[in-house]
Amino acid sequence: MHKYQPRTFTPSLGIIIPCYNEEDVFPMLIDELQKFADSLDNEVSFLIVDDGSRDRTWQMACEISEKDPRFGCIRFSRNFGHQTAVSAGLKHITGDVVAVIDADLQDPPHVIKDMIDKWFEGYDVVYGVRANRKEGILLRTAYSVFYRMMRKVANIDVPLDAGDFSLMDRRVVDHINAMPEHNRFVRGLRGWVGFSQAGVEYERSARAAGEPKYDLKKLFKLAMDGIITFSSMPLRIAVWVGTLSAVLGFLFLIYVIVLALFYQETPSGWASTVVLLLFMGGIQLLILGIIGEYIGRIFEEVKDRPIFVVSEKAGWVEEQDIVKERHQTY
Ligand code: UDP
Ligand code: MG
Repeated sequence: MHKYQPRTFTPSLGIIIPCYNEEDVFPMLIDELQKFADSLDNEVSFLIVDDGSRDRTWQMACEISEKDPRFGCIRFSRNFGHQTAVSAGLKHITGDVVAVIDADLQDPPHVIKDMIDKWFEGYDVVYGVRANRKEGILLRTAYSVFYRMMRKVANIDVPLDAGDFSLMDRRVVDHINAMPEHNRFVRGLRGWVGFSQAGVEYERSARAAGEPKYDLKKLFKLAMDGIITFSSMPLRIAVWVGTLSAVLGFLFLIYVIVLALFYQETPSGWASTVVLLLFMGGIQLLILGIIGEYIGRIFEEVKDRPIFVVSEKAGWVEEQDIVKERHQTY
């Protein structure tokens, strides 16, 4: 059994908040975050990552960073997506422990306190586990199927019903930052890193204000990224399906030969030929598609583009080295 070393010093805490068009919840969010930070003994820094918002989110972020030195902000040149915003946050954040939280207050900040308590026990990653979900039944089923599927097919242990809401030790953050891939499924990388991980259950409330920023298309992409970047199971399925159909084809061949030799009957099956043709054609296209998903991702990786472009900075982030950053890739 792994023996956990309890920790004794008070860690500085960095909190990453990815925001995309969040002007409706923003005042409420800042209020909650400030209250939470004031209630702690830890030194706290916030990092707002504006994922190319088209509303007043960036202005509001700049305003708060002028008033409160704990806030730093970076702005993407366009919408790069939630996982990228979290990754950029991990690159820039300071602190002995780092938390990632949604802007819509679905993840209550006070849970971070429980996570820190777990960290004191010696855990390196403490992730929030959703005790209940307030989404519709359809989305809930989809989530539950996805997490169970991830668990089955991924080569790593992705905890059930755990999202990006989590607290990580500095060394975990450094390891995640050191990973070179461009396609970043953060909760997967976090699981891959290993160390000692624990969950903290919490009630996930409904979004405090504004519209959800994840549409079905983005969710589907997230699910595909999760499965394809962490597992070669879909390719293996292709091998199984191919083997199975080859075996069935061989059996059918023997059947046809027996019919022809002993019964002088050659079957006249136009229908079965067409069905087989369509079926095999379909399977081949499907498998090509699966291979294509992997090749597409390999293409993304070899292009080796930076995964995000920062257009502006405000607050404490401004002092960080922008030239160095421009030359860094993942
Ligand atoms: N988000 C983002 N970029 C996007 C979509 C979402 O940074 O392209 C942020 C959003 O501002 C929020 C978090 O990701 O802080 C989660 O988004 P949302 O609440 O819409 O997703 P859900 O709660 O449905 O998973
Ligand atoms: Mg939400």
